[in-house]
Amino acid sequence: MIRIRGLQKSYGDHAVLRGIDFDVLPSQVVVVIGPSGSGKSTLLRCCNGLEVSQGGTVEICGQTLQDNGKLLPEAELNHLRMQVGMVFQGFNLFPHLSVLDNVTIGPRKLRGMSREAANALAADLLAKVGLAQKMSAMPASLSGGQKQRVAIARALAMQPKVMLFDEPTSALDPELVGEVLQVMKLLAREGMTMMVVTHEMGFARDVADVVAVMDGGVILESGSPEVIFSQPREPRTREFLQAVL
Ligand code: ATP
Ligand code: MG
Repeated sequence: MIRIRGLQKSYGDHAVLRGIDFDVLPSQVVVVIGPSGSGKSTLLRCCNGLEVSQGGTVEICGQTLQDNGKLLPEAELNHLRMQVGMVFQGFNLFPHLSVLDNVTIGPRKLRGMSREAANALAADLLAKVGLAQKMSAMPASLSGGQKQRVAIARALAMQPKVMLFDEPTSALDPELVGEVLQVMKLLAREGMTMMVVTHEMGFARDVADVVAVMDGGVILESGSPEVIFSQPREPRTREFLQAVL
């Protein structure tokens, strides 16, 4: 579903991704962990074309998105991006649009869906994230956890093949983290392919098929949560886990 080979990215002379090789298989949940500045966000952003890499390749669903420093041309890029949903730490909802319109605007404007069809889809998705009764609310009236659940529904409305999450619960008050993780667990159970950067080690343990540990722009090691959390191979993985667990 995602195939990354030799991916390199620098800002000036600062190498942030230094040759990443990684695969995300269909229906897999991959949790990416690692210290601040290790390149986790940059890796996700390269997977939906928000960043142009300088070397290596990224393929999404068999289509080449990044090819040795070249991004797919604009028209194809926009099409491929629809298949890759992304949820950020900040919710980035449109403040002047209702919850319903936040969810329907993508499918209506980008997929040419009728208002009726988009409304029906949004109603289903808002029910799935537990916000059926907030359809006509404005974003400013929602809690952080509710906003993030709308952001997830909005990403799902584009009917993506893969979902990328970059620290989706880091900006939330602790008591609101669980409701967002619950929605992500539900998606995982339904078979959504997901790549999740998070510091929620409980989520990684319970939900991840694969945990990938990044440090200094490389993937130090990856494996099942059991292996990574109980018998990590790399000393730097052990140091990182001791600091966060
Ligand atoms: P965190 O856990 O803090 O979110 P991260 O693992 O997501 O960290 P990245 O955001 O990918 O790390 O950043 C990796 C490195 O690249 C950092 O040193 C960061 O300062 C640098 N960096 C990221 N974006 C830019 C940019 N637009 N311009 C210059 N440097 C950048
Ligand atoms: Mg980051």
